[in-house]
Amino acid sequence: MDCDKCDREAVMHAAYSGLHLCDEHFRRSVDKRVRRRIREDDLLSSSATPDDPETWLIGLSGGKDSVVLTKLLHDTFEEDPRVELVALTIHEGIEGYRDESLAACEELAADLGIRHEVVTYEEEFDLRMDDVVEKDPENMAACAYCGVFRRDLLSKYAEEFGADKLLTGHNLDDEAETALMNFLEGDVAQTAKHFDASLAPFGERDDEATRSDQDHFVPRAKPLRDVPEKEVALYARLADLPAHITECPHSSEAYRGEIQDLMLSLEDNHPGTRHSIMAGYEQLAALAADEYGAGEGDRELVECERCGASTTRDLCRKCALVDAIEAA
Ligand SMILES: [Zn+2]
Ligand SMILES: [Zn+2]
Repeated sequence: MDCDKCDREAVMHAAYSGLHLCDEHFRRSVDKRVRRRIREDDLLSSSATPDDPETWLIGLSGGKDSVVLTKLLHDTFEEDPRVELVALTIHEGIEGYRDESLAACEELAADLGIRHEVVTYEEEFDLRMDDVVEKDPENMAACAYCGVFRRDLLSKYAEEFGADKLLTGHNLDDEAETALMNFLEGDVAQTAKHFDASLAPFGERDDEATRSDQDHFVPRAKPLRDVPEKEVALYARLADLPAHITECPHSSEAYRGEIQDLMLSLEDNHPGTRHSIMAGYEQLAALAADEYGAGEGDRELVECERCGASTTRDLCRKCALVDAIEAA
């Protein structure tokens, strides 16, 4: 089959658009979607100048999503002195898994000439996820602990590096899954928060509504969220990017797995489902955010007495978990 835009051979067929694209036209289409998303989200503040650039922190895990995000942001802003990129990799202490993906991150950052920082749970919290999973003092999924620690470090270092924005590699499938989960769980408050935290264009966000327990506050964005997961993977392969594909050995998000299966089978039978889920969800989430925004301001936020993160309690969630793990 030939490319719809030229006479080279197609490397992909997107059922939702009907398009067949060759290597070059496919890569261009991914690039275009990411640039459009950056524009539509008003990601680059109009106050950024070459003398006073914005710093964007990229959460670089070494998986295909964050690797492709880093590459595309680099290509987009390579010649633009208004943006400085910093990549941050978090080592959770997962034997084998993170060591290999860390090598991928280092290779990519060196290739692109991007500043790259690495922080570890071991140095920050004196713990490793492999041990946390063994002890499991709160009887939770591994991802529940890991998410608290990861969010803490992302926001802590975003602040430390003077980052104006925090960017993560969530793709269309990730976002449509989250949308479906919020909907099926009937969680309208979470939907409102999702909108203000990462879906709304900058300037239309209610930052106060998303300021949550244990977060130092840095605005977030997901520039890959219009690109389906399969296309992110194909891009990584075609651009020959160093990406580490294996899944985390502790991953246990059973419910998300069910939602993913459901969504992919809907997408197979009704191409375009993921796009329409997001189109409708964003409108509903905006309405929910309007409704919830003001009410959430009631929570009194204080500084965690140990680490200084904002919290509604004496100790933030992260510090409380570290204590529980130490005591186990
Ligand atoms: Zn072509
Ligand atoms: Zn704390």
